[in-house]
Amino acid sequence: MWNYKDFIGIKNLTKEDIKHILDLSFEMKQQMINDKAREIKQTRGNMTTLFFENSTRTKHSFYMAGQNIGLRVTDLAIGTSSVQKGESLMDTLQTIDSMGTDIIVMRHSESGSQEFAARNCKASIISAGDGTNEHPTQALLDAMTILDKKGSFEGLKVTIAGDILHSRVAKSNLYLLNKMGAKVTFTGPTTLVPKAITQMGAKVCYDLKESVKDADVVMGLRIQMERQNSGAFPDLREYNKTYGIDGAIFDYAKKDAILMHPAPVNWGVELDRSLFTAPYSVISEQVTNGVAVRMAVLYMIMEYRNNRK
Ligand code: ASP
Repeated sequence: MWNYKDFIGIKNLTKEDIKHILDLSFEMKQQMINDKAREIKQTRGNMTTLFFENSTRTKHSFYMAGQNIGLRVTDLAIGTSSVQKGESLMDTLQTIDSMGTDIIVMRHSESGSQEFAARNCKASIISAGDGTNEHPTQALLDAMTILDKKGSFEGLKVTIAGDILHSRVAKSNLYLLNKMGAKVTFTGPTTLVPKAITQMGAKVCYDLKESVKDADVVMGLRIQMERQNSGAFPDLREYNKTYGIDGAIFDYAKKDAILMHPAPVNWGVELDRSLFTAPYSVISEQVTNGVAVRMAVLYMIMEYRNNRK
């Protein structure tokens, strides 16, 4: 049973909350597949997307998810809005809130801006990426994909390679996988994988092959060029030589290991181009599951709101 107005992070969720969302996500996926029978759970309400950072997958799948469950969906196109005239975040939020939307799906480069929005809006705030802090629906769709392939999280080894420092995906995944009983190992250059992250319950290993040894899941992450000055590593080619994931790396992982990436992928940097068609890649399934997870989250939030009317 969901009991919160907003959905802005994994950090404060319980194992039961996560199980509840995943169960509902699998149900939603089944209903999507059976759509011809018009079985999809429906709700009523308005949802507005507010993306201060670019997005393909997250924005579009929130859009589709909202429509799938019967929400009236609109977008504030930030690029042509009064944000370009210098209107503040607070004024922008208050404007959308005053129009009576039930849900604001928000992405912003400033970590903590969704918590600020949640405190100041009557609408429910759903995170679509919070600076370098969290990306909760990404972690849930990753979890759904892992659960689908592996059956359980208990004792799984998940190796995540790349720009951990600037990645909200890494943090949300760490919170979620720890809570569910999997073990996370981070790998990448020392400049992008701070040792201090071990205090959050992850292992750190600076050797890619060693870190992938016996992994059940190997996840690549994008180098977040937009969030860093140069200097974290010599250049992208050098990065690829030391930390790029290719087919040969999978010899070190478990035989049935899967390859994940939240995308967009820098092919030839964090993943070798040959992996585009690798049979163990579940990158497309992650995208499909993203719609189901977002349907579940939106539905849950609308249930919460409707029960309180
Ligand atoms: N799409 C994910 C995010 O928004 C991953 C990435 O951009 O690298 O964080």
